[in-house]
Amino acid sequence: MTRTIFTRIIDGEIPGDFVYQDDDLVAIRDIQPAAPVHILVIPRKPLPSLQELDAEDLELAGRLLLAVKRIAAAEGLGNGYRVVINTGEDGGQTVPHLHLHILGGQKLTERMV
Ligand code: 5GP
Repeated sequence: MTRTIFTRIIDGEIPGDFVYQDDDLVAIRDIQPAAPVHILVIPRKPLPSLQELDAEDLELAGRLLLAVKRIAAAEGLGNGYRVVINTGEDGGQTVPHLHLHILGGQKLTERMV
């Protein structure tokens, strides 16, 4: 399996601006921020997308969401933020390694839903 850019960042081969890391996941600032705060929460397990998340990953899924909440608080996003998981081609996913975008630091106006 080809190693993604995120696996290479997690393994220290490529630099990343880490804001959080633990045994299960890391969080880095997006290299092309779409908002004043734009952080990617990435499981160390290289699941290609949300579609490959399985029952055995239930605890991991919960940890990812709790990490989002904690990181958002640490980043001062108490007034709100958005979480996005682009999934697959139609979902606009460009890096095939599951990740959650945290977007905030301004009022987010553009929306589809
Ligand atoms: P996707 O389009 O798959 O939902 O999101 C991939 C995200 O990864 C994009 O927002 C893109 O800017 C970000 N990204 C791509 N390559 C790198 C990189 O090398 N470092 C960091 N920090 N972010 C990256």
